[in-house]
Amino acid sequence: MLVLGIESSCDETGVALVRAEGPAAPPRLLAHALHSQIDMHQAYGGVVPELASRDHIRRVLPLTRQVLAQAGCGLEDIDTIAYTRGPGLAGALLVGAGLACALGAALDRPVVGVHHLEGHLLSPFLSADPPEFPFVALLVSGGHTQLMRVEDVGRYELLGETIDDAAGEAFDKSAKLLGLGYPGGPALARLAEFGDPDVFTLPRPLLHSGTLDFSFAGLKTAVWTQVRKLGDRVCEQDRAHLAASTQAAIVDVLVKKSLAALKQTGLSRLVVAGGVGANRRLRAMLDAQAQRRGWRVHYPELHLCTDNGAMIALAAAMRLQREPQRARRDYAFDIAPRWDLAAA
Ligand code: ATP
Ligand code: MG
Ligand code: FE
Repeated sequence: MLVLGIESSCDETGVALVRAEGPAAPPRLLAHALHSQIDMHQAYGGVVPELASRDHIRRVLPLTRQVLAQAGCGLEDIDTIAYTRGPGLAGALLVGAGLACALGAALDRPVVGVHHLEGHLLSPFLSADPPEFPFVALLVSGGHTQLMRVEDVGRYELLGETIDDAAGEAFDKSAKLLGLGYPGGPALARLAEFGDPDVFTLPRPLLHSGTLDFSFAGLKTAVWTQVRKLGDRVCEQDRAHLAASTQAAIVDVLVKKSLAALKQTGLSRLVVAGGVGANRRLRAMLDAQAQRRGWRVHYPELHLCTDNGAMIALAAAMRLQREPQRARRDYAFDIAPRWDLAAA
């Protein structure tokens, strides 16, 4: 089964081709292409939905041609077309849904709508060291921070989540306060390499709450207070210390709650997915804990941590291997800007 995957939920246009054999074998990535709109939105300090939709329209066909050429396939070789159904920006989602339905109708192939977070969650199955079910998943992206118990494909139980900002949002908002542009997560992480995480004491909200929920809104306020205190006297070294302290506070909470989730579920495998999963400090600290306790931690390949079409094609393929009836032929432009993963 050859699956074309289209991602257009936010500010990345991603297209990919995945080949899936029997349910025992993990699907293989044949080709993928990505266009990030970061440069376009940078001037506005965040994603402008209308501009995002228009750019997806411009990019999605050239990217599709590109992956077909890369894989040496023609349109008629595609068996199923997968697209991100939600959650995300409605106008942006419609571009992917529109192309998927148009291709489906023209080629007489079924389409399948994929949950964006399921894509992130399953993305480590495209790595050289794929996980086995069941596992605990730490989903840390720009819009979500969740811990889940994953029994199998499609069996996701929410253990805890953020009650306010997402971890990626905490990185991005703190980075903005430090004058690091958008999206600031990677820039803050780079600046943090030059700082000492112990210079500033920042809050670790809900660390000892006894639940698996997160809260990052207070951290952003604390960073703002520090930035104000430093005022005009702020030097490059102070900014690096503050970046390091911010990163340490976020990572500390993510690591401790992940360990608590593993203990609570009695599981010994952790999957980390979403853009913040690219963070080096997070990876180093989780790896160190796992080694000490004999646990395994699985990550997507670095370039597949943030949004991409490969994870959408993959999630569709893994779902269809178990539930072929999910493929539809009504070609309605079906999207779900707000969509709970447990209901997917
Ligand atoms: P969602 O998946 O919840 O809809 P999203 O798709 O915008 O949100 P992703 O693309 O998965 O999120 O991840 C983007 C986020 O990851 C941004 O907040 C970005 O700052 C953050 N990020 C990326 N790389 C790093 C890094 N090395 N360290 C910290 N944060 C990072
Ligand atoms: Mg993005
Ligand atoms: Fe995402």
